[in-house]
Amino acid sequence: MTRALLVVDVQNDFTEGGSLAVDGGAEVAVKISEYLRTTAGEYAHVVATRDHHVDPGNHFAEDPDYVDTWPAHCVVGTGGEELHSRLDRGPIEAVFDKGEYAAAYSGFEGRIDGTSLADWLRDHGVDTVDIAGLTTDHCVQASALDALQEGFGVRVLLNLTAGVTEATTEAAIDRLRAAGVETVGQVHRPVRHG
Ligand SMILES: [Zn+2]
Repeated sequence: MTRALLVVDVQNDFTEGGSLAVDGGAEVAVKISEYLRTTAGEYAHVVATRDHHVDPGNHFAEDPDYVDTWPAHCVVGTGGEELHSRLDRGPIEAVFDKGEYAAAYSGFEGRIDGTSLADWLRDHGVDTVDIAGLTTDHCVQASALDALQEGFGVRVLLNLTAGVTEATTEAAIDRLRAAGVETVGQVHRPVRHG
């Protein structure tokens, strides 16, 4: 088994002070960095994704519903798009960008130098993926379901994720488990009710 860690969208706009902040987002950045220090050697590869919007159409809205539409976030060229400063970049070998001109919740829509995330992982002999990052109920969920579709073994490290709302986070965890994704630990409890 060759395992990779996939760090999904730990970006400034999804953390405290960002335009689409989730409660506990910055803590997730810190906890992933601690986790990387204590699990050095357990992962053959560590990669990350970024939401990377230029003009993603109706993904952005003036009056967002926080389900399908969102305040502007992770716009290319803004600080909000940058990976969080408390996330240790050292172990991250490749960053896959997604969502230039449309919503892209799954990290598997991401590419680096034209190579898709799934192809990169397969090229590097990876057959199993652990997933952490933001947010449990959207991009982490979508990435985990796509990882399964792509044929990888998948675990979601819930203690290294945070969700937008409690209800959608609980629904996401149920859906992941039903699909065959192994979940590890407990999610940081979201406080926003929207
Ligand atoms: Zn987005």
